[in-house]
Amino acid sequence: MHIRHVISVSGGKDSTATLLLALERVPREQIVAFFCDTGNEIPVTHAYLDDLENHLGFKIHRLKADFSAEIAAKRRFIARDKRIRREYRTAPVFDAQGRPVPKRDKFGNIMHRIVRRGGTEIQEPIQKTRRVGGGRRVRWSNKAKRRALAVLHPTGNPFLDLCLWKGRFPSRMAQFCTEELKRNIAVAFQLDLIDQGFPVVSWQGIRRDESPNRRNAKRLERIGPKLWAFRPLVDWTAQQTVDFVRSQGCPLNPLYSQGQSRVGCVCINTNKQGLAQTAYRYPDEIDRIEDWEWLVGQVSKRGFSTFMCDADDRKDRRAIFADLNIRARVEWAKGDNGTVDLFDRLDLPVCASAYGLCE
Ligand code: SF4
Repeated sequence: MHIRHVISVSGGKDSTATLLLALERVPREQIVAFFCDTGNEIPVTHAYLDDLENHLGFKIHRLKADFSAEIAAKRRFIARDKRIRREYRTAPVFDAQGRPVPKRDKFGNIMHRIVRRGGTEIQEPIQKTRRVGGGRRVRWSNKAKRRALAVLHPTGNPFLDLCLWKGRFPSRMAQFCTEELKRNIAVAFQLDLIDQGFPVVSWQGIRRDESPNRRNAKRLERIGPKLWAFRPLVDWTAQQTVDFVRSQGCPLNPLYSQGQSRVGCVCINTNKQGLAQTAYRYPDEIDRIEDWEWLVGQVSKRGFSTFMCDADDRKDRRAIFADLNIRARVEWAKGDNGTVDLFDRLDLPVCASAYGLCE
């Protein structure tokens, strides 16, 4: 059977350039392009994909994750939850000289864990920890159960349903959105083609200069039986990509000309400028996220959840919500009142996916 050349189109410049290169180099009937609709895109991106399809005369399949089964299971879990244990915060223990105290098993032996250092696996002692504070109840209170079950139903929006299922928004430390909304869908789509008997080449619009974790990206890589990754842009710069798309007379996502350096979802990791631009140009998207914060808060055990930086470990969720809810973040992004701009100072990539799925 003929190879299938599969391209995940995100609406960004890199995946558009990759699709153009594929159309230039291989027969059209062997190319399959798809877009993972997260349900969290600015509508301009959907309109752009329609334009791109018309311009190229080429179909881009729209794929969506479905979490109905997971939400049904979560409803059952919450309704039946009768756990009695508590969850504690912990702190490492040091001796009088400030040396870490190792953890011991019931026979007095020091416990170890396996860690990887410089490419070799070594055993390292586990440090003893102690409980801090009174802990919090693990089980759902009856009040929280009633609150959650009243709203915990599939909405058909993949991003919102994912957050309802998880009871929280993704964060930089728990970036499950990329995996659940893009990677798993892309992998399932490609495995389906392989099951139909097609060898698959996955064209990925990754550039090495994008972020440290893409620095060593290979141009061609076998990633499984009958499955290869091909990254034709690995040594291109962002400017080369834009120039190439323009030279083909192909439109770029209008979001680029509206101050966004990257396009795709309204991202949980967006920087100050990106958030301010979104709030200025697309206030409806901020209203939508505000509604989502309320809904996801209802299904969270603590009653609050914020779209940005939900990994805050402070105890008082009300205080966290007051500081980090989307309206407060927009005000912070708009005003220049000397606030420390953590996002900009960290200078991290907007999305850490190594698959080029979040452009
Ligand atoms: S990391 Fe950002 S762009 Fe990627 S899926 Fe999550 S919200 Fe969307």
